[in-house]
Amino acid sequence: MPTDLPPLRDVIARHNLGARHSLGQHFLFDSNLCRRIAQAGGNLTDCNVIEIGPGPGGLTRAILESGAKSVTAIEKDSRCIAALNELADHFPGRLNIIEGDALEIDETQLVPAPRRIIANLPYNVATPLLINWLKRADAFDGLTLMFQKEVADRLVAKPRTKAYGRLSIITQWMCDIRFGFNIDRRAFTPPPKVTSAVVLLTPHAPAPADATFAAMETVTAAAFGQRRKMLRSSLKSLGLDPAAADIPPTARAEELTVPQFCALARAWAEKTKDED
Ligand code: SAM
Repeated sequence: MPTDLPPLRDVIARHNLGARHSLGQHFLFDSNLCRRIAQAGGNLTDCNVIEIGPGPGGLTRAILESGAKSVTAIEKDSRCIAALNELADHFPGRLNIIEGDALEIDETQLVPAPRRIIANLPYNVATPLLINWLKRADAFDGLTLMFQKEVADRLVAKPRTKAYGRLSIITQWMCDIRFGFNIDRRAFTPPPKVTSAVVLLTPHAPAPADATFAAMETVTAAAFGQRRKMLRSSLKSLGLDPAAADIPPTARAEELTVPQFCALARAWAEKTKDED
């Protein structure tokens, strides 16, 4: 392993990488913490890692030093590319840098399986990125993702809690999810306003076939659009009677389990098929 890597703070100063709020830039300098994140999902040997938003490359170093077969790092900020190229020189043939918007890139076209995503996500696009990955979750062996704690809490939330909602249901439907650990805001430069948390997702393989992704998105959006109302009222916009899925019409969205939402999604798909 290369031991001659320059300190990250020097890299940032030399390449003038002052953090930009518009890109959700909060950098991690603590190499022990970066190593803990890199290794949280298990052994990386033989694994092709996709990192979103490497920035100056702190977490990228840790992933490479943890033995990943390859790292494909997608970064939107062109200012970071020269610094990342220097890092690539220290790990010949193992770091592939792509300048671009991760929202517009299909990682499965770039990187062969087995694939794992590891990212300290830019908070402003973390949820849409997650939804995109969930749509093709079985293409990944695992995802190690850092979110604002409030989002991480929503991902792991159980029925009848305040945090339980669309994101909990779709994520838990597609993946096993485990809360990893919190990261204090002061670990970042500059510190964000809130605590962060690492979550570990292991996609179900093959992907669940008990409903379509589109139908799950539709019924969860309608049900949680008016989360305090009874389903007979919140699902009216879809013309869907909860009884069609054996669900009491007086139930509320936050009381339903993931399999019950799948049943609703199937009932809605059945109903719209009849209408075609
Ligand atoms: N990985 C670095 C670390 O842990 O120190 C930086 C993490 S910082 C929270 C998020 C990174 O994502 C920034 O480098 C930012 O430029 C990048 N980024 C923001 N939006 C992006 C997008 N749409 N596609 C790819 N990268 C993006």
